[in-house]
Amino acid sequence: MLNIVLFGPPGAGKGTQSERLIERYGLIHLSTGDIFRYHLKNETELGKLARTFMDQGHLVPDEVTINMLKDEVLKQTDPKGFIFDGFPRTNPQAHALDTLLKELNTSITVMLGLEVEEEELKARLTNRALSSGRADDTDPEIIANRIAVYNRETAPVKEFYAAQNKYIAIDGIGTIDSITERLYSAIDSKK
Ligand code: AMP
Repeated sequence: MLNIVLFGPPGAGKGTQSERLIERYGLIHLSTGDIFRYHLKNETELGKLARTFMDQGHLVPDEVTINMLKDEVLKQTDPKGFIFDGFPRTNPQAHALDTLLKELNTSITVMLGLEVEEEELKARLTNRALSSGRADDTDPEIIANRIAVYNRETAPVKEFYAAQNKYIAIDGIGTIDSITERLYSAIDSKK
């Protein structure tokens, strides 16, 4: 199996690039943000719980997020591999993912980290708000909070994969096509 973690701060382009990678490699795309938004829209119990955290730009608690992700992984029959987008975002999530994949006799192949500086992220998110309709993209304070949460809680997760020689940094500035090409080369070097 080919299992990729697409990593990077909010606005780095994870969603856009995931669309391209799943097509080329035949992978299942699991975006925890998208799954939470689906629950929000359908007003499920999980959605109601997640909303309070998401609206403020905080992380949904690990236990809730990990259980949801597990269900989504175990739902798949005979997958060729996964792209994890927006997960893991904390060290406990990274450990839980390792354990889960081990139970399935597989592991993370590579973590690809899209690197984009903060001013560019803020500009992209503000711009995305015009079309995404996402409440958490519209308020500059919430955007700043999401970036701060990323720097504090999520950025350290890359060390977990770097220690296993699985982290590859990708320059996230440039045209969408040129960034996709960088991702393809990085994946092909690890396959
Ligand atoms: P995203 O679409 O990845 O930017 O996620 C939107 C929001 O969903 C985040 O700001 C968090 O509130 C929540 N979320 C998504 N993924 C996770 C995760 N792995 N852990 C905790 N919260 C998450």
